[in-house]
Amino acid sequence: MSTAVVLFTSDLRLHDHPPLRAALKACDRVVPLFVRDDGIKAAGVRSPNRDAFLADCLADLDTGLRARGGRLVIRSGGVVDQVCAVAREADADELHMAAGVTAYAHAREARLRSALEREGRRVYVHDAVITALAPGAVVPSGSDHFAVFTPYFRRWSQEELRGTLAAPRAVPVPEDVRSEAVPSRKDVKGVSEGLAAGGEREGRRRLSAWLRHGIVRYDETHDDLAGDATSRLSPHLHFGTVSAAETVHGARRAGGPGAEAFVRQVCWRDFHHQVLAARPAAATDDYRDRHDRWRSEDEAGDEIEAWKGGHTGYPVIDAAMRQLRHEGWMHNRGRLLTASFLTKTLYVDWRVGAAHFLEFLVDGDVANNQLNWQWVAGTGTDTRPNRVLNPVRQGRRHDPDGAYVRRWVPELAGLEGAAVHEPWKLQDRERARFDYPEPLVDLDHGLARFKEARGAG
Ligand SMILES: Cc1cc2nc3c(=O)[nH]c(=O)nc-3n(C[C@H](O)[C@H](O)[C@H](O)COP(=O)(O)OP(=O)(O)OC[C@H]3O[C@@H](n4cnc5c(N)ncnc54)[C@H](O)[C@@H]3O)c2cc1C
Repeated sequence: MSTAVVLFTSDLRLHDHPPLRAALKACDRVVPLFVRDDGIKAAGVRSPNRDAFLADCLADLDTGLRARGGRLVIRSGGVVDQVCAVAREADADELHMAAGVTAYAHAREARLRSALEREGRRVYVHDAVITALAPGAVVPSGSDHFAVFTPYFRRWSQEELRGTLAAPRAVPVPEDVRSEAVPSRKDVKGVSEGLAAGGEREGRRRLSAWLRHGIVRYDETHDDLAGDATSRLSPHLHFGTVSAAETVHGARRAGGPGAEAFVRQVCWRDFHHQVLAARPAAATDDYRDRHDRWRSEDEAGDEIEAWKGGHTGYPVIDAAMRQLRHEGWMHNRGRLLTASFLTKTLYVDWRVGAAHFLEFLVDGDVANNQLNWQWVAGTGTDTRPNRVLNPVRQGRRHDPDGAYVRRWVPELAGLEGAAVHEPWKLQDRERARFDYPEPLVDLDHGLARFKEARGAG
């Protein structure tokens, strides 16, 4: 009897899963394995919200495997030690897993390859499992990655994506491989109250509802803060409960301007992944050094705390920061505005903001989070690195009726319409009715400070 171990990482699904299908084709039995990896814990990128969502995903993966005659094997510890131990227990011939893009994922693959090959086991690392197109599948002449989105999107759009794979009917798993209990989100402390549910079934339900209804007007409504009319697929794409390739195929089949705009956004995800795969240091270091001398935490400590807590006195910023805490998710327009406010108006290091987002975001992702933060901070791939978003003008444009602010900043719920974006303009007596802070910083002052720092006069 031949046996393969399939190591699940950011691909917690049964549908459209190349490593699982390849393992089932090559071997009689497979061990579907998930390792609660000490190395990821030590890297400090875990968060209660993602732990809770992950627990949902693992429980659902186990259920899906059991319906196919198998089960999920869960282990905790160092990933290489655990994979080797399971491979020995199952007398496995080979390992299948998805290629990752982070420095950690690259090192993990190399360590697994050398440890398993030493024991005479084969290792197969599959591309285009986590992204729609593999990083490096398209490159510009003279470079190992695209540094600008638009030409990448053009090339990416011309490539044929791999076909979608059905979920296997049966997954035979050897009986004698030990597993820990499947975790439950109930055991995770500190989870955001409004956190969405995880798992492949939930992801597929959301994807098919989105392709049937939501996507049609995405081009017109994706920036409408109160409308909340985006797919909310990001945590599912992050944990791989929904496949990026299947998402793109589905959107292309749906067709129309909404679908085109949506596919472009999914391509942004691939874009950031190919940047990080080629430049893993961009997770922590400026992708483009702008010689910033960010205000230190000593200088800006109170302002950083006000930003984190949603008490800056700029209603749309505060609304978005509170949505983040409450749901573990934030609307893309909110992410752009709050990140611009921190890095440009307050001139605080993007790493401070990125770390806070990673603590809460259920879709918190090294590639998408760090590189979007760098994009907004102007140290990344934005071709207009010194643009600054004005939270009042942006609030009026993307929350014209003020409904988003009133939803998340109840202190201002008594203010009607767009007036909610500028409470400081109220007459003194009326202003006193609202227990809401004065603006933390003058926007003109923030803009001038940033421009001077960047020499962008
Ligand atoms: C400062 C900042 C931090 C961010 N951090 C993350 C993060 O940690 N994880 C994350 O998945 N996204 C991140 N984004 C990108 C984007 O905000 C989210 O992907 C999006 O808001 C998720 O909501 P949705 O699924 O409804 O998106 P939709 O608008 O429905 O888009 C569909 C999918 O496209 C992808 N996508 C959309 N916009 C982007 C983008 N700018 N970059 C990369 N992929 C994109 C996502 O996978 C998303 O699920 C960040 C953006 C900014 C400005």
